Amino acid sequence: MEKIIIIKYGELSTKKDNINFFLNILKTNIKNSLKDECIIDYDRGRMFITNINNYDKVINILKNTFGIHEINVGYKLNDNNLETIESDLKVLIEDKDFKTFKVETKRSYKKYKMNSMEISKYLGGVVLKFKNNIKVDVHNPEVVINVEVRNDYAFIYFDKENGLGGYPVGSLGKGLLMLSGGIDSPVAGYLALKRGVKIEGVYFESPPHTSEAAKNKVIALARILTKYSGYVKLHIVNFTNIQEAIYKNIPHEYLITIMRRMMYRISERLANKNNCKIIINGESIGQVASQTLTSMQAINSVVNIPVIRPVACLDKLEIIDIANKIGTYKTSILPYEDCCTIFVPDHPVINPEIEKCIEYEKLIDFNVLIEEALNNIKTLKIEEVDTTFNDLL
Ligand code: ATP
Ligand code: MG
Repeated sequence: MEKIIIIKYGELSTKKDNINFFLNILKTNIKNSLKDECIIDYDRGRMFITNINNYDKVINILKNTFGIHEINVGYKLNDNNLETIESDLKVLIEDKDFKTFKVETKRSYKKYKMNSMEISKYLGGVVLKFKNNIKVDVHNPEVVINVEVRNDYAFIYFDKENGLGGYPVGSLGKGLLMLSGGIDSPVAGYLALKRGVKIEGVYFESPPHTSEAAKNKVIALARILTKYSGYVKLHIVNFTNIQEAIYKNIPHEYLITIMRRMMYRISERLANKNNCKIIINGESIGQVASQTLTSMQAINSVVNIPVIRPVACLDKLEIIDIANKIGTYKTSILPYEDCCTIFVPDHPVINPEIEKCIEYEKLIDFNVLIEEALNNIKTLKIEEVDTTFNDLL
């Protein structure tokens, strides 16, 4: 028998004709993360990894890979004969210490001479005879002995780790994540990745009003997201001229509304240029004045591209929970101001009128400014391993 890792797919297995499309991407994603260390095979029901040197490392990577429902370290037997299953099972449990157990059998090979119940019952009897002082507990066993009988061989495995679920990153195409240094947008990015959307990031900076440290924080957040997605491209837009023009010319209660309309316009252009089919951001209904439904309408109306807001309906505490779980929270709360916080007026409009936005925007030559910003974008490729910003974390 051979020690292997067995992967179960979860929601992916509901895909019918195009399941291979998804599985191929999952395989490629795993291969890229493992850097070709192992051999990966799959069929419609399971993916198998063999030739593994460091199990802990591989499992850690798989636990952060979307498209995986469950991870099992198990053993592939040479054939599916009952005698082989029985003798290999004895070898595997010989040194295992447990008092209660149950056997669960799955049989994808339907012509096998026994059905699943019969196999479980038979092997349960074998275990009871083989070990002293143990009993079957079907409700709360210390050890579950899983047996899978397939056409040419069988698997035995005991432990399972939960995967993240979702779809393999990239299987649903690409989206442009508006990534600020806050708590919400990295969580929004993570949730989009979970649905199979590969992300590129866009960050609007306004030097000298925003600091290098604020930008580095956004880079650090993008780097944390690479753990779930592979490398992330981050587009950095110099927003200073636009920000200053708005500040000088537009009535202050509309500063944020107009500023966000500009961000949306630039994001749409950038998304189209980079084959991103949607914009993703961290807006949450009601969180601030620019996220009332009327504000969202006024801001959203300047673009045609779909804007997906994965945290729109979550409470801040729910978002913080996810941020903690995915490892972005501690970085997000580092105290560097971004361009939104510097130019915040005392009384931002809560119910902006689109007609007024259009009127005010005539006061600045915004098309020229947008063109200029688009021509000066700097794009970074953020990889998972980089020590440059470790001092920030
Ligand atoms: P977060 O909402 O992520 O905690 P924030 O509170 O600074 O950060 P908001 O002002 O609530 O952000 O803006 C809502 C969303 O707009 C953000 O979640 C983000 O997607 C986007 N956004 C805001 N500022 C920027 C920026 N400087 N660059 C890129 N995207 C931004
Ligand atoms: Mg926010």
